[in-house]
Amino acid sequence: MHKKALDTPIQYIKGVGPKLAMLFAKLGVRTVENLIYFLPRDYEDRTRMKTISQLVPSPLETIKAKIDNVSVSNARMRNAVLKVRLIDQTGRIEAVWFNQKYLLRMFRLGMDLFVTGRVEINSFSGNLQISVRSFEIDTGSNPPIVPVYPLTEGLFPKKIRAISELVVQDYLDLVVDLVPKSVKDKYKLCDLKTALSSLHFPKEMKNIQKYQYRLIFDDFFFFQLGLGLRREKVKVEKGIGFEINRRGFHLPFELTNAQKRVLDEIRNDMKMPVPMSRLIQGDVGSGKTIVAALAAEIAISNGYQVALMAPTEILANQHFLKIATYLKGCKIKLLTGTTQRKKKTAELLDADLIVGTHALIEDKISFKKLGLVIIDEQHRFGVLQRAKLGKKGTNPDLLFLTATPIPRSLALTLYGDLDRSIIDELPPGRTPVKTHYVTNKKRKGAYEFIRKEVQAGRQVFVVCPLVQESEKLDLKAATDEANNLQNFVFTEFKVGLLHGRMKGEEKDQIMQAFKNKEINILVSTTVIEVGIDIPNATIMVIEHAERFGLSQLHQLRGRIGRGSSQSYCFLFSIAKTQDSRTRIKAMLDSTDGFYIAEVDLKLRGPGDFCGIRQSGLPDFHVADIVRDEEILRVARKAAFELEKEEIDALKNEVKRRYGKFLGY
Ligand code: ADP
Ligand code: MG
Repeated sequence: MHKKALDTPIQYIKGVGPKLAMLFAKLGVRTVENLIYFLPRDYEDRTRMKTISQLVPSPLETIKAKIDNVSVSNARMRNAVLKVRLIDQTGRIEAVWFNQKYLLRMFRLGMDLFVTGRVEINSFSGNLQISVRSFEIDTGSNPPIVPVYPLTEGLFPKKIRAISELVVQDYLDLVVDLVPKSVKDKYKLCDLKTALSSLHFPKEMKNIQKYQYRLIFDDFFFFQLGLGLRREKVKVEKGIGFEINRRGFHLPFELTNAQKRVLDEIRNDMKMPVPMSRLIQGDVGSGKTIVAALAAEIAISNGYQVALMAPTEILANQHFLKIATYLKGCKIKLLTGTTQRKKKTAELLDADLIVGTHALIEDKISFKKLGLVIIDEQHRFGVLQRAKLGKKGTNPDLLFLTATPIPRSLALTLYGDLDRSIIDELPPGRTPVKTHYVTNKKRKGAYEFIRKEVQAGRQVFVVCPLVQESEKLDLKAATDEANNLQNFVFTEFKVGLLHGRMKGEEKDQIMQAFKNKEINILVSTTVIEVGIDIPNATIMVIEHAERFGLSQLHQLRGRIGRGSSQSYCFLFSIAKTQDSRTRIKAMLDSTDGFYIAEVDLKLRGPGDFCGIRQSGLPDFHVADIVRDEEILRVARKAAFELEKEEIDALKNEVKRRYGKFLGY
């Protein structure tokens, strides 16, 4: 006999053998606890059934009626149809089952049945019939409201119901409701066990939502507590209190109000002797680099070193060049896989600012006095990589940058332990990009338009998508396209090619040539996705736009519209599916990254959202960050206003649930 515990594998439950356990596993149910949290997705309300005379054609109805007559047609064929005439006080209707004549043995005249199915008109007789999806013999003890669980092939509703009934009865008392009473009172939450048992076996439909709310709240509450704890851990450590001397060094332009606001937030953090941990979100082109450079300047003028890590060589290179123009007089070094071989680490040691790629976190790289770490496109790095760079100093301030606008709900989940600043304003003088959807018929016209623009001195990006997740085919598609454009479409211009398999140096050469206008049209795979800054490039052509995710399309479009002249984005596409049409439409409707991100999140769900796949999402019992955003906010508030003793009492539970995800 097994000890009663929530982590008991369900295989040991009476009535569940290895075979059934395997089916349950397909639904994500392995333990008793999983099963307790495996909740009905819907309910059949038998307190509000229609009578037969009230029925009209409808996709789903449930009735209770008596068997009046039973017959089988095509009895010997495989497609036998079982017909049962049902009656109640108000009338009669025929119920039909296909290929289930074995049911014949179960039915007796006069027996009461609950029958659920589609109500339709029989095309021969012209009478209503009900095409049965599920049924149940009324034993007099059937629940008035029947839970409908998610199903998988081979696992029948009745079986699931029976097993969850057994498990809930036997094990529910092991579930401990740990949400403090103060929170339950304040947020009007019911008891956890009541919520669970009522959702499995409701007596009425009235409070279902209240019970669901309670469970979703529970998920978010403990997760947000975990984020709070992680944040706490960072904040109790002693950090560097930088002195902010407004040296006011010369900027090539005036900061936007958004940049000023964010810079103030950073300054306030850097002043405090507590490690900063701040995420700057800003659409492509919003001017994050200058803000990062000004933060770096604070650290440098206090005698500290700064490290800036970017996900690709191209980006690191670009930051390096740009920051060098902003921070004149500072010693700035570049460290990438390519430059590394040539440079001595000693030389790096006395730099004020080192801009680099992953090469920065290698063991042999060390700093004299690292005071600030800046990580660009931070979601492209793992938690460990980020931490590793931070460990090269003693509690340095951390500044994360991202050009991926992250919807609020997702940000609160993934980066809920960071302070956030948003640069929600573009530098002045930008003209919004005009976006066009181009079908094959209109391709020629678009090319002619592009020709005129290039003649006028503008430059063009042409992006080819990943072909079936294969870098090799991917490369071929881009190469073919470059050849095609060079030899057949734009013979008078110089077409260049950039792809992911090129070495860093090669890529840089091509980018440099493009920058110098030696190349008019640059065909590339998606390697240019982040951060490239070429103001003279005013046209972005995206081939097979339907294959890109929405946020990715938006990122690509952000490569243009950086100068003051009008820019154009052409989405070459045959949008066949509903999803791809929605994506294209969102691109045509808006240039606001946050709006686009919200649409993208709704389309794809949080699991697939741009860049999130690597980091994953916490494993909630019930909660869904998109659907339940409102509850997420409430639960976060509740978690963050707890008293210290209350938090201490919950630490173990937080660790049990989300320790792995949060990295404790
Ligand atoms: P991001 O990194 O957010 O994509 P960048 O920092 O690369 O944006 O800035 C995009 C371009 O805008 C750069 O050429 C930069 O010099 C310019 N820029 C940034 N801030 C301003 C500003 N306040 N006024 C004018 N131009 C700006
Ligand atoms: Mg940038």
